[in-house]
Amino acid sequence: MADTQTQSTEQEWGRVLICGGINWAHNGKKDKVANGTPDLLSPYILRSLSNLKIVKLITGPSANYAVVLDIHGAAYIFGRPPSPALATSSDIISENAPVKISPTSLELKEGVKFVDGAAGRGHVLLIDSEGGVWGCGNNVTAQIGLPVTMLIPKFTKVTGPWLKDPEVKIIQVTAGHTFSLFLTSTGQVYAAGSSENGQLGNGKTGERLVKAGKVTFDLEVPPRLVQGFTDKKIVQIASGNQHSLALDEEGFVYAWGYAGYSRLGLQDQVNRLVPTIVPHFAGNNIATRGHAILCGPTSSIVIDRQKMFLIAGKFKLTGDGSTGQAYTYFNLSVMACKVIKASCGGCTHFLTTPDPVGGIMTVGFGQGAVTDHLLELGLGPDAGKSATKAQKIEPLSGIDVIDVAGGAFFSLFLAKPNEALEDLTRFPEWVPSDSNCMVCGDDDSAGVQLECEKCEQPYHLFCLDPPLKDVPEGQWFCPECAQEADGGVDHPFLPLSLDEPRPRNRLQSALERVQASSGDAPGPAAPGSAAANSNSRKGSRTPSVKPDSQSRAGSVASGTPRGTKRDREGSSAVGEFRLVRRTVAIAEPEVKLGLALISAAPR
Ligand SMILES: [Zn+2]
Ligand SMILES: [Zn+2]
Repeated sequence: MADTQTQSTEQEWGRVLICGGINWAHNGKKDKVANGTPDLLSPYILRSLSNLKIVKLITGPSANYAVVLDIHGAAYIFGRPPSPALATSSDIISENAPVKISPTSLELKEGVKFVDGAAGRGHVLLIDSEGGVWGCGNNVTAQIGLPVTMLIPKFTKVTGPWLKDPEVKIIQVTAGHTFSLFLTSTGQVYAAGSSENGQLGNGKTGERLVKAGKVTFDLEVPPRLVQGFTDKKIVQIASGNQHSLALDEEGFVYAWGYAGYSRLGLQDQVNRLVPTIVPHFAGNNIATRGHAILCGPTSSIVIDRQKMFLIAGKFKLTGDGSTGQAYTYFNLSVMACKVIKASCGGCTHFLTTPDPVGGIMTVGFGQGAVTDHLLELGLGPDAGKSATKAQKIEPLSGIDVIDVAGGAFFSLFLAKPNEALEDLTRFPEWVPSDSNCMVCGDDDSAGVQLECEKCEQPYHLFCLDPPLKDVPEGQWFCPECAQEADGGVDHPFLPLSLDEPRPRNRLQSALERVQASSGDAPGPAAPGSAAANSNSRKGSRTPSVKPDSQSRAGSVASGTPRGTKRDREGSSAVGEFRLVRRTVAIAEPEVKLGLALISAAPR
């Protein structure tokens, strides 16, 4: 029912879908086969977050984790986080138990939200609605923008020169391997970290000879202004592993940093130490200027003002765009469709485009004819082996994807609730649940039970407060799961109950907490309490539907709205998941993290 409460003033939100590798401890490692959590071959609704109104997906081509932001401004992180301190027990955060980080836990004042961020391989940044930046993770090269230290274990505020002017906010950040960029509301760009390939755009690599064959690089901290933009207004920034792009308000595109595979789109492999204008988007014809920018690990992408998708660098393993034939300048690489949103994962590219039959179509292509790399495209178990050309992601047919984010080994989609979304399977497909009503404890012979879309726990229509006469249309969440989603940044967020049905007392304690905080006026008896269970209360409510499990089962099969109680035995099949071997074959010169000294061997 949360879905029907959407107001016109509300920020656009959706539900999180996930596909690809979710074996966080072993993603990208050779021992993955032996530790088989199956990969998800097509997008599933991520059940743990299925009740939340999500507004932003944050992951990246080198990130084995994700952060998503909800409509209240809280952050939820899962995967292998950049700092083990973010996890509650092991160094992995299960997708079934995302960790909630509220702005108030960082002592931001009430009402301040997390609004954006960036996910690098080893560090993550979040932006709050007051323009502050918070960083966490690897800081060996000062890439977070804080003084050099092995690790920033918990989110810590980044103190940059922009703080001198209280009017200036940070509105966008990027996270490369060894550096970060910070875009201010005044259109200036700051950079922090290591500049061995010119990533910081400050005109130097900061290289110093230590001894024969060994050099060290100056690390830039606190963040320092990127050169060349003082008379311009930059409106967007993007970073790959070792290079960056910027877009100004006139649509000019600038590139700098490491130029291997011609990823800067400047027709050569010469590193640029300062932002360099990309001629392709600098013509007099305004329509050919840049509209949006993004970076793959070794590629650059510009969506031009005609909404065309142009790519430079290496983004495939074979053929055009591969190691041998990297696009040295920006090429129109995919079907000529108008791009709404685009994202790059480790080996994947996604874009959304208007669907000719209405709504939004999601399109993807992988790095090459390497089956192992196509899982995170979410093309489904029956898809062909190659996605060198962009193709529609069929399992998302009819689903309006409003945001997409490619991770290193997995992909996330943000889907607006509609009928097609309701038909999509959740992951995990099954969670244990009770057969008796969570309020009165009676079985479904007493009346129709609704089953929560998230926790699967049953509730009689007449046991709800207020009671329902009919099965509601669309997704339905139980009082606890609805409260969890609507309760704001400080409401507790509980992991999925996977081993046993969600305990009854969690609902009661959650409601009691809410009642306790809503003043001392005596409220109605909490569902599940002795009063609620009394015969008089039960007797006062009349089931509006005849208890008849046979007819109900039949009506579910013929397509009544989701949310009615379904046959749990039938929904427990897990045969669709396949374990697929995964190898990583991205030939990228690595900058060794964890070492202050970086080999100067020629690449
Ligand atoms: Zn009941
Ligand atoms: Zn529930």
